[in-house]
Amino acid sequence: MIPYSRQTIDDKDIAAVIEVFRGDWLTQGPHIGDFESAIADVTGAKYAVAFANGTAALHAALAISGVGPGDSVCTSPLSFVASANSARYCGASVTFADIDMETLNLMPAVVPAGTAALVAVHFSGLPVDLSSLRQRPRVVVEDAAHALGASTPDGPVGNCAYSDMCVFSFHPVKAITSGEGGMVTTNSEAFARDLRRFRHHGITPTPERGGWCYDVESLGWNYRMTDIQAALGRSQLDKLETFVMQRNGLADRYRVLLSELPVLLPPRPALGVRHAYHLFTVRVPRRDEVFEKLRANGVGVQVHYSPIHLHSLYRREGYGAGSFPNAERVSNEILSLPLFPTLTEEAQNYVVKALAEACAD
Ligand SMILES: *Cc1c(COP(=O)(O)O)cnc(C)c1O
Repeated sequence: MIPYSRQTIDDKDIAAVIEVFRGDWLTQGPHIGDFESAIADVTGAKYAVAFANGTAALHAALAISGVGPGDSVCTSPLSFVASANSARYCGASVTFADIDMETLNLMPAVVPAGTAALVAVHFSGLPVDLSSLRQRPRVVVEDAAHALGASTPDGPVGNCAYSDMCVFSFHPVKAITSGEGGMVTTNSEAFARDLRRFRHHGITPTPERGGWCYDVESLGWNYRMTDIQAALGRSQLDKLETFVMQRNGLADRYRVLLSELPVLLPPRPALGVRHAYHLFTVRVPRRDEVFEKLRANGVGVQVHYSPIHLHSLYRREGYGAGSFPNAERVSNEILSLPLFPTLTEEAQNYVVKALAEACAD
């Protein structure tokens, strides 16, 4: 099966990981700081704080901004469920802003008034235009799990030009991997401090009371990343530029190969915007049938996503069919084709041929 995405690991990555086992630290040692500074450099943010995974990073970003019971957090209905669940971890309720049919990103203009925090998802790696946000919620967090390596005229995604914090994931299907892993970037020293405390049980060292002393002022979690993961992530980051270029090259090639097929191609980035192409999503007629046929022919297509508000957990909050019609419609048509740096042209040709056949039957 050709997967829709997969990691690309080379000998340097393997050597970097093995080296960790010869050192003194396995978890949260020197490699964490190295990986964090490298992510801050690449994104142009002042601070970067590593987490065990992207979901933990989202939870932390919302929690340390004071999101809690009584607050309403808005996100895109066309996203991975973690974009919404992270608000629920904080005891907040979740609302959604329907997606734009062109970009498939949430429409900033329909973010409900009274939203405490916005979790802005850069769907498939195409940055959502946060400059068009009419009323700024108290907190703006970017869910940039798809968008490491993307940029806009305001600079790289992650520089927090229009947000308080930006969250990345290093799950193996994402732009670079650390196995599991996540990162929050921010330009706020106070947020960075609170994020570090949150990932480590809420502990603040108080050496003035004795070298062993610490205080716990607020509830934290064990959301630390290991040094093993950080070493892999740091090594992978050297290849980010290459990976994103390869993804863009393959995406351009798909556009040419698919131009005669009865499929709707994904939105092109606007001038000055760089797409990270975490996903290459086409929209096809009779999607369920096409999905099954492609899977039967060894093409590991995937659907990103079933709308979040139609999962039972969110239906119980009063959402249902018809709540966000654009997301629902797209979700019934969408199909993510295989796209990852080592996808060969032969494999890509095969995907296109299988898709042509599946659409023709
Ligand atoms: C992958 C992903 C996450 C969660 O990241 P993990 O590292 O898997 O916890 C959150 N939001 C979106 C949109 C994602 O694709």
